[in-house]
Amino acid sequence: MSIATTNPATGEVERTFDALAEKEIEERLERALEAFDRHRALPVAERATRMEAAAGILEAETDRIAALMTTEMGKTITAARAEARKCAKACRFYARHAEDFLADRPADAAAVDAQRAWTRYLPLGPVLAVMPWNFPLWQVIRFAAPALMAGNVGLLKHASNVPQTALFLEELFHRAGFADDAFQALLIGSDQVERVIRDPRVKGATLTGSEPAGRAVGAAAGAEIKPSVLELGGSDPFVVMPSADIAQAAEVAATSRCLNNGQSCISAKRFIVHADVHDDFERRFVERMRAQRVGDPMDESTDIGPLATERGRADVESQVADALGAGATALCGGERPGGPGWYYPPTVITGVTRGMRMFDEEVFGPVASLFRVSGIDEAIELANATDYGLGSNAWTRDPAERERFANELDAGQVFINGMVTSYPELPFGGVKHSGYGRELSAHGMHAFCNVKTIWAG
Ligand code: NDP
Repeated sequence: MSIATTNPATGEVERTFDALAEKEIEERLERALEAFDRHRALPVAERATRMEAAAGILEAETDRIAALMTTEMGKTITAARAEARKCAKACRFYARHAEDFLADRPADAAAVDAQRAWTRYLPLGPVLAVMPWNFPLWQVIRFAAPALMAGNVGLLKHASNVPQTALFLEELFHRAGFADDAFQALLIGSDQVERVIRDPRVKGATLTGSEPAGRAVGAAAGAEIKPSVLELGGSDPFVVMPSADIAQAAEVAATSRCLNNGQSCISAKRFIVHADVHDDFERRFVERMRAQRVGDPMDESTDIGPLATERGRADVESQVADALGAGATALCGGERPGGPGWYYPPTVITGVTRGMRMFDEEVFGPVASLFRVSGIDEAIELANATDYGLGSNAWTRDPAERERFANELDAGQVFINGMVTSYPELPFGGVKHSGYGRELSAHGMHAFCNVKTIWAG
């Protein structure tokens, strides 16, 4: 895939970039190692001042960076601005909490025959982040903010369709005052990723993206015995029980499914509704999906812009065609509009069954599968009948049902009566083929630390 900005609203290539040559990759890895020595020596409080400065730049330049993201991957301008502001908040969160997250943790010295014993969190060195285009700022910041605050340095291999956002991120940390080369964007293709992971100067790797990319990065890191965090796709269930507020559930369901033009790993994708409230939910949900305004992502009133890539839209179309061809029904949407841009309408499909691609795969577009179940056992069984296990949503006012969903939904997060979202305060990640390891909170910071035991007699 060439490294280029191609506007999804028009299909036009706006800028192209050459991939780094081997010699340039080599120089940048050397500079990352040198930067690590300087950066780790900086006291945490001074790292925090710089991270606050990065937050200030994101806030002051929200409009510029938002327009860039919209141009590169098609999210609506309002969503892009919200993303930039969320990134600023995350920078401030880690600036303010790093001292605490990195503080020595004393242990029970007597129990381990020591005068003193404690745990200390130390940085590892340069860490490679392989990142996707869907939240091109947020996915990177949620790695970079804790990594830089912990004293690590960052190497970003961003998706090939968001090179200008990648370069903005490099510039951001530079302008915020971090050591030269403490955060570098490597404009390389995915075929160079293994070479970077296998380089002895690189101490770990994190990836957000598809399952095949995750397998490749996890395998290379494993072969080199380096830590990795994988945040892969999701096919989140959204279970609605009779005691739920159905109007609110239907509204949140449409918001979640259409988030980021339908291209979010934690969008609800499979809507599993109790028979007693199914028809009411279906009517409201389809109404809400139909009401979404599809159009120019630069227009303030647009809810859904184009999909990010032509291939992405073709994938969604073939998943829907597979389901309809095997007997499923579209309650709304299901056909692409004419004209330029990679648009796809909000779509609700019923009659999706095991073995259909929509049942087994992640659908990365505004397409929902709707299921009817007879009770909580069937709901949980269906919710878990996927290889993915990222987020999950359950709507119920019944305390016993809540407990069952909290314990039995096989996912990294369960949101009850609300929409799965990421917060800097809460760990984020999945189980099963949605990946391993956690980002955000203190867990995200410690993922790339040497958690060192110190025992003193
Ligand atoms: P990819 O997983 O292919 O891309 C994500 C990142 O991984 C990019 O930087 C990409 O680089 C890189 N990459 C891809 N293949 C490899 C590899 N073999 N080794 C190392 N790095 C690799 O996502 P796509 O854009 O192709 O989207 C495909 C599907 O993935 C979507 O339809 C969706 O289902 C899922 N996805 C999930 C995301 C999530 O948030 N969980 C985000 C994005 C996609 P390059 O761009 O150069 O190929």
